[in-house]
Amino acid sequence: MALIVQKYGGTSMGSPERIREVAKRVARFVKEGHQVVVVPSAMAGETNRLLGLARELNPEPSPRELDVIASTGEQVSIGLLSVALHAIGVKAKSYTGFQVKILTDDAHTKARILSIDDANIRKDLVAGNVVVVAGFQGIEANGNITTLGRGGSDTTGVALAAALNADECQIYTDVDGVYSTDPRVVPEARRLATVTFEEMLELASLGSKVLQIRSVEFAGKYKVKLRVLSSFTDVNSTDMGTLITFEEDENMEQAIISGIAFNRDEAKITVLGVPDKPGIAYSILGPVADANIDVDMIIQNASTEGLTDFSFTVHRAEYKRTMEILESKVKPAIKARGVVGDDKIAKVSLVGIGMRTHAGIAAKMFGALAGDGVNIQMISTSEIKTSVVVDEKYMELAVRVLHKAFELDKEPTQENMKP
Ligand code: ADP
Ligand code: ASP
Ligand code: MG
Repeated sequence: MALIVQKYGGTSMGSPERIREVAKRVARFVKEGHQVVVVPSAMAGETNRLLGLARELNPEPSPRELDVIASTGEQVSIGLLSVALHAIGVKAKSYTGFQVKILTDDAHTKARILSIDDANIRKDLVAGNVVVVAGFQGIEANGNITTLGRGGSDTTGVALAAALNADECQIYTDVDGVYSTDPRVVPEARRLATVTFEEMLELASLGSKVLQIRSVEFAGKYKVKLRVLSSFTDVNSTDMGTLITFEEDENMEQAIISGIAFNRDEAKITVLGVPDKPGIAYSILGPVADANIDVDMIIQNASTEGLTDFSFTVHRAEYKRTMEILESKVKPAIKARGVVGDDKIAKVSLVGIGMRTHAGIAAKMFGALAGDGVNIQMISTSEIKTSVVVDEKYMELAVRVLHKAFELDKEPTQENMKP
């Protein structure tokens, strides 16, 4: 007998028929003798619909009230799934995040889980119930409802698995695992049988929304056995999906590059003609940091005649605010020639632990993009990833070109393996 946490995403919960299928799958695991905790998301489109209603009534709704509104989507789902389980003779009890209690900090709309009280869940499991816990939601110390950020039910699932010391956390979604890139963009993308935790963390943080980044962080911190699978296979399917592995217990051969992530979340800003002298980066980015705006990539060019250009990226939602700060405060203070920006950019990233041991990956990447006429505007690298900023309209082309150049559609061959 194992203790399994199963999270089902919005599409998996999208209609009464889909919920019935989820119930059947849960029943199968119960019949096999397992204890099951289920974490459903809101029905597909429901969270967007709820947030849309709020914005219709107020263009700048308070984050506290947004959480009150958005959290109802998951509350409906736990009730519906529970009655669907009852209908096929499975004992089940539902709990909201607040009832459990999933305690979070008070950062409304992007709260972090601090602790989970698992006492009631354990009691119900021992009494033979399936326990259905609402994803995406929690409660802060003063009793206010919080939500965990978009895609946050993944994190509820993994955090519950960690708290309960579950044998496995299964994330059921509308694809049957983690692919070399989003199969919606590259139909030839290949499913990965395993992906290391570190690679998954990079892929998630660089834009692959198949898992919310915090769920991957949780899995790493508490060594949760995490698997991504499809809820659209036959309920008796034994397909194993993709397992997130930890390098320590990884002795399988791995490809140099595992995947490609991409996002359109950023905007690029360049401060032109700034004096090349000590303290200039601080003069530019200090006021940006003071406004609580995160900066991602940064480039400073070599100077000519004592002047240089300084470029960086911020989240697209912060683009206007950053431009205003630079125009009003930074430009006059450092006597820069000008400030220009572009919020129609995309970041495309190659991820793989093999980059640690293999030279020439970045060069091959740039060569492939050049071959198809994709201009690279910015580059950033770390141990296991290389990212480039390109014009948004070339994003999908860049992803496809790189997928082909690194033969990610093919099983890794001997030459393609890490030593
Ligand atoms: P859910 O509602 O089940 O949480 P999401 O839409 O959040 O589902 O995540 C699943 C989607 O993630 C897939 O439909 C797919 O388009 C997208 N995706 C992005 N990158 C990848 C990837 N590397 N592998 C698999 N799916 C990916
Ligand atoms: N329903 C929430 C969202 O749409 C949480 C989730 O689906 O994981 O973001
Ligand atoms: Mg999701």
